[in-house]
Amino acid sequence: EGTADRSIPAYLPLRADLIGETPYGAPQLDLPVCLNVNENPYPLSDRVVDAIAESVRRVGQELNRYPDREHTRLRQAFCDYLDQESQTRLVPQQLWAANGSNEIMLQLFQAFGGPGRTALGADPTYSMYPEYARDTFTGWELVARRADFTIDLEKTLAAIESLGPSMVLLASPNNPSGTMLPMEELETILKACQGVQVAGAPEGVHPVVVVDEAYIEFRDPGLPSAVSLIEDHPNLAVSRTMSKAFAFAGARVGYVAASAGIIDALRIVRMPCHLSAVTQAAALAALGHADEQLSQVGRLRRTRQETADWLRGQTYRGKPLEVADSQSNFLLFGGHFENRQWIFEELCKRGVLIRVVGPQCWLRVCMGTDEEMDAFRQALAEVLAQA
Ligand code: PMP
Repeated sequence: EGTADRSIPAYLPLRADLIGETPYGAPQLDLPVCLNVNENPYPLSDRVVDAIAESVRRVGQELNRYPDREHTRLRQAFCDYLDQESQTRLVPQQLWAANGSNEIMLQLFQAFGGPGRTALGADPTYSMYPEYARDTFTGWELVARRADFTIDLEKTLAAIESLGPSMVLLASPNNPSGTMLPMEELETILKACQGVQVAGAPEGVHPVVVVDEAYIEFRDPGLPSAVSLIEDHPNLAVSRTMSKAFAFAGARVGYVAASAGIIDALRIVRMPCHLSAVTQAAALAALGHADEQLSQVGRLRRTRQETADWLRGQTYRGKPLEVADSQSNFLLFGGHFENRQWIFEELCKRGVLIRVVGPQCWLRVCMGTDEEMDAFRQALAEVLAQA
């Protein structure tokens, strides 16, 4: 696949720390059922497609000009969206967008990481985090989560205390486990960070806490989002994306809500005009149809519940499967697969692509359409019977 396995010629002055590295990415195999990258499986409606096409058409004539560097209308639209989705009123100065939350996260590392600094995460977590750290020469440290994948608060607080990280990076819901970070624990971490000095920084400089809420719209109704804490916590940044629940992964739009100070720091490191006029127009049109874009989220939550129940009823070598509690659109399952690679490959042979990720002995599956989940269950039942 691609250039992943080719080595870079030795005569090229590749950075020493990149020698032997390969490009990140899940295998993009052409299989009938793809449940491997946590997308929303339901396509956009014709109505939304038409609205996007019309919105993009309107900017067509002006594509000779650079786009609005500050993407002001889009930032306002995200504020309106957060007001509706998480009952939090922010102003555009507290909002910033980029090409996927991957770029948001990289910009956060560019602004708040750097040589001599450390970012702290909770293992297992999203496997891109160490790459942002590498690419910005930031140290990357992990505290182990508990066996049920919740944060070990005591150990996390101790690590913050002893390392003095410039960034604490927590995904909620977490990838690959789906675990939600309880609001009280986040508040405890935020409070602790207020009393912690960033190592090597002048007196009075405290860590930035980044909560990655890529999957937040999949949480059960009633659970809060960390955006509700932004007003009272100037060192908190909440990263989000249109790629998951919002069914817009192909457009590459992520955003972050934070204090105006954090946003202004990102404006220093961003590429000029990083967000194209086409992207801005497409995102604005999609946000204008937010209800429709999110219309399958409730169904995907039910699919998650049904699939978790079904998985817990399956056995591997005589022992029931474990399933991590998930508030996301994917499930980490297994817990004692001694040959997860074999299981993965056998599922591929049956046309079903899932993901080998996370701790040993676990696999991750993302929620698909009803037909796709039927295919997944049938294939997995067959494979488990032979395992
Ligand atoms: N954060 C987490 C936890 C993710 O799982 C992903 C996508 N796999 C992202 C961020 C990045 O998504 P995007 O760049 O499409 O917004």
